[in-house]
Amino acid sequence: MADIKIKKLNKFYGDLHIIKDIDIEIEDKSFTVLVGPSGSGKSTMLRMIAGLEEINSGEISIDDKIVNKLDPKDREIAMVFQSYALYPHMNVFDNMALGLKLKKTPKDEIEKKVHEAAKILQLNDYLDRLPKQLSGGQRQRVAIGRAITRDPKIFLFDEPLSNLDAKLRVEMRRELKKLHQNLKTTMVYVTHDQTEAMTLGTKIALMNNGKIEQYDTPENIYNNPKSIFVADFVGSPPMNFIRGKIVNNNKKYFLAKNADNEFQIQLSDDVITSKNNDSLLLGIRPEHIFFKKEHAVRVSKDDNFAQISVVPILNEYVGHEQIVTFNYLGQEILGKFSSSILIEMNKEINLYVDLNKICFFEN
Ligand code: ADP
Ligand code: MG
Repeated sequence: MADIKIKKLNKFYGDLHIIKDIDIEIEDKSFTVLVGPSGSGKSTMLRMIAGLEEINSGEISIDDKIVNKLDPKDREIAMVFQSYALYPHMNVFDNMALGLKLKKTPKDEIEKKVHEAAKILQLNDYLDRLPKQLSGGQRQRVAIGRAITRDPKIFLFDEPLSNLDAKLRVEMRRELKKLHQNLKTTMVYVTHDQTEAMTLGTKIALMNNGKIEQYDTPENIYNNPKSIFVADFVGSPPMNFIRGKIVNNNKKYFLAKNADNEFQIQLSDDVITSKNNDSLLLGIRPEHIFFKKEHAVRVSKDDNFAQISVVPILNEYVGHEQIVTFNYLGQEILGKFSSSILIEMNKEINLYVDLNKICFFEN
């Protein structure tokens, strides 16, 4: 068992405040992904958990034992980096065995552990090869194998797939997920790639500028984003935002500005009390906009949809789907539809927005 509790963690480089009072509890056996834009502090967080980076204030505990002062080698952690950091003159077996040899593990136990790891990672046939005789994906597998042989309580990964080409990255992603399912060990994984975060994580911590914006399941991050930053970071193409205000004459509505009541939504009470009335952003994902009324009726519960009038201006074909850009009240919004739907450009049409899927943000 290995959970990680982090309390009020801070890191400065000189005057720069890099990690800002972060609290997070990483559950035992979880696959927790730290995701966010470049420079948001992901690697720094991971390196502090590993003990490779000093912390300025706060507390990190593993299994309720404070590890602030503990050497990296005593934390029972294995870390895998983007650069595989293999020894070029050692073959695969020796690369995977090195940590065990340094710990003076008996030879037959080393043999057993390396072969076990090689089996999990399908490296059995490559044990005699040097790193330069392997593909990028195989090298990364050796680096992961080296982590597995150490039998750590926690695996830490820092963008391990970033050096691989797109196809291999998707394959390795699936292998990592299987590895987690097999080993059932706590894993903390850093990436800037939202798709990797969504597909791998049991929990996602979305980082922005040294803070965690939202720490949640992938489903909640996607469906109930707590901030515009989260809503915008996750999903491809990204969520559409429509600015508007709430008006209140007997019934309460959200009105898109300049809309002449064209796009109005009756609001539920909780929205009205929790949000500022004057200026709101309404968020709607491209896949929650429908081209035909009957599609919206089929999908939206209680026929809870709104009709908006738009002009299609651009069509991007992506195989089974098409992403269409529309002009809506002078701004661009995107919709995602099946490729089988024929959409004529530059001719005004109606679209149908699933109101069960919209979000509101103060801004
Ligand atoms: P991420 O992994 O999310 O891309 P990092 O944790 O590597 O971000 O870096 C967070 C911030 O800290 C960045 O602005 C980076 O420039 C800064 N930083 C990282 N390491 C150092 C260092 N050794 N000295 C000064 N600034 C650093
Ligand atoms: Mg990084």
